[in-house]
Amino acid sequence: MLRQFALDFFRLWLWLLILVAVFVPLERLFPLHRQRVFRARFFTDLIYYFLSSLLPKAVMVLPLALAGSAAHRVVPASLQTAMASLPVGMRFAIALAIAEVGYYWGHRWSHEIPFLWRFHSLHHSAEEMDWLVNTRAHPVDMVFTRLCGILPVYVLGLSQTAGGSPDSISVLVILTSTLWGFFIHSNLRWRLGPLEWLVAGPAFHHWHHTFEEPLNRNFSPMLPLVDRLFGTLYSPKGEWPVKYGTSSPVPADLAGQLLQPFAVTSEAHDYPVR
Ligand SMILES: [Zn+2]
Ligand SMILES: [Zn+2]
Repeated sequence: MLRQFALDFFRLWLWLLILVAVFVPLERLFPLHRQRVFRARFFTDLIYYFLSSLLPKAVMVLPLALAGSAAHRVVPASLQTAMASLPVGMRFAIALAIAEVGYYWGHRWSHEIPFLWRFHSLHHSAEEMDWLVNTRAHPVDMVFTRLCGILPVYVLGLSQTAGGSPDSISVLVILTSTLWGFFIHSNLRWRLGPLEWLVAGPAFHHWHHTFEEPLNRNFSPMLPLVDRLFGTLYSPKGEWPVKYGTSSPVPADLAGQLLQPFAVTSEAHDYPVR
């Protein structure tokens, strides 16, 4: 257990080195906004990088195992067997698409349900966008959205728990959407041209973080088609948001940010829907 934790921690440092080596030079070469690498709250976000990677993994084991056993009773065994017998590549593609819809709704509910917005508003407190903003998320927010994405994948039999741990399909799905998350938050002025209808780029997700109208758009992590399907796509050609952030008050310090959503009375509760 402790060995596994140490191994995960080491892996995270390696990923961090790779992410820094990729995004820091790119953001210097192709910046959308002129800003410092060590911008405000950079180091708090670094702590979130570790928190939001290590905690969900530990917390999600039990719900996934329960969902797996519940699914055996609810979902027809023939469907689960058919899904499990598909080639790995096809299973991964279907799992990615299913998870995308799950992520979409988990994320959309986090904006529409006041209790969930208490936790999600932290992610929207970023006033400067860069790759590391991807990690700024309350652990409750992170676990909830991730479960929304991954549970349907388990229920349909596209992924299975092996000895209490997720198998490679769900690990790959989580890894792909997490890595893509760094890209769509990055301070890169790149547009994807005709590909923008197919995959999310920085512009797609930057509009999700706009301080001004239109709010509550572009919830999908990777596939804008899901937003198109549910009527929340916003994709103006060549335009970018001018200002990022939220009017919900979020404490500046880490402890305050982690505890605020649990407060019985909190200013943040006055902003039920953003
Ligand atoms: Zn959001
Ligand atoms: Zn975001």
